[in-house]
Amino acid sequence: MSATLISNARIFDGVSVVSECGHVLIESGRISQISLREPLSPPAGCAIIDASGCTLLPGLIDAHVHVWRDVELLETAIRYGVTTVLDMHNEREWFKGINAITQQRNDVSDVKSCCYGATIKNGWPSAIVRLVSQEEGLEDRISKWPGLTDKKSVEDFIDQNKAAGAAFTKLMQEDGHTMTLPFPERPVPTPSLELQKTIVDVSHENGMLTVAHALNNHSTLHVLRAGVDGLAHASIEPITEEIVQAFKKNNAFVIPTLAIHASSSGEEQETRDKFASSLQGAEKEHLLGCLHITSDKFSIKTVYEQVYTLKEAGIDVLCGTDTSSHLAGTRAGLSVHHELWMYVNRCRFTPLEALISATSKISDRFGFSDRGMIQEGRLADLVLVAGDPTQSIDAIGNIKTVWRNGEAVVRN
Ligand SMILES: [Zn+2]
Repeated sequence: MSATLISNARIFDGVSVVSECGHVLIESGRISQISLREPLSPPAGCAIIDASGCTLLPGLIDAHVHVWRDVELLETAIRYGVTTVLDMHNEREWFKGINAITQQRNDVSDVKSCCYGATIKNGWPSAIVRLVSQEEGLEDRISKWPGLTDKKSVEDFIDQNKAAGAAFTKLMQEDGHTMTLPFPERPVPTPSLELQKTIVDVSHENGMLTVAHALNNHSTLHVLRAGVDGLAHASIEPITEEIVQAFKKNNAFVIPTLAIHASSSGEEQETRDKFASSLQGAEKEHLLGCLHITSDKFSIKTVYEQVYTLKEAGIDVLCGTDTSSHLAGTRAGLSVHHELWMYVNRCRFTPLEALISATSKISDRFGFSDRGMIQEGRLADLVLVAGDPTQSIDAIGNIKTVWRNGEAVVRN
């Protein structure tokens, strides 16, 4: 692969703006050299890009999506600068297929997956998948999902997930009361505290981080007591001191998924309109459509306040959207731009705090030491945008070029 030199760029390295006029050399798919001031001399045959007036960022990461076997989701995400997505429950075989594709192609986002979530019989997410998916063979697939009951079943589950390439473990704590959907069983069966503890412990013994689905305060406290490292959603209930302390005790992070909360409640229609302005047809319809699955008593303002409070208390916020082709109100990659916009304009983040939440904070917490920052030796997963998103988050939409493994895959 040929070398590329990006010159005269403002550089946001994933943590801070380290240069207003810096130079980054890409060789063999990695960042080989960075100069914050003096120009670099390009090797023979090197492509040179004058990035004056532009900002270079690490490729963005969406810490909560559902890929299933949807390659198009990955082709779309990368066009918006999202070079890695974290897949929060999938068929093991489907992930293996997707993983093979992401290893061969640079024009798709890379995927880190939990493979199967830690499911119990008739528990989450089978209840919602049955309602939103009409796919053939669904019942057959669901019947093969883990039905965890005891330590032995958990050990087998983790072994098999690891063998399929799982990078972390996802726990499920959802009784269905947070939504107005017509679940056949309510409450939906949930794992006991003892079982969740076992899942966390066995994951940790295997060097795997744990992240949990929970949508209300009761479930959030339950999984934090079980020892999880992070929450895959922010709760839809008003934040309490007990919640803040429980996060602190575990040093847990939160992945807000405001994009899906807004779709669930039917709010933020004006801003979805704004982000959908470049789309047409079915793509536009999907982003403008809403799930409308939370009760009228819920307002997303409660979640904004919660995310702000957690951030102010020093809790790590990791950008994630819950994007999936099954979930209306989201669009791969573009929903990350919307999510970041809401952190800044609704949750009182600085643009820099928002960008950190979608880059170094995720790679740091998940232990992905090869990405998430502009650093010599890391993968050349990069985004170049016109203007300065560290000052105005809207500029994240002005994408000029996206590189994955050093290959320019999007050019405007
Ligand atoms: Zn999800």
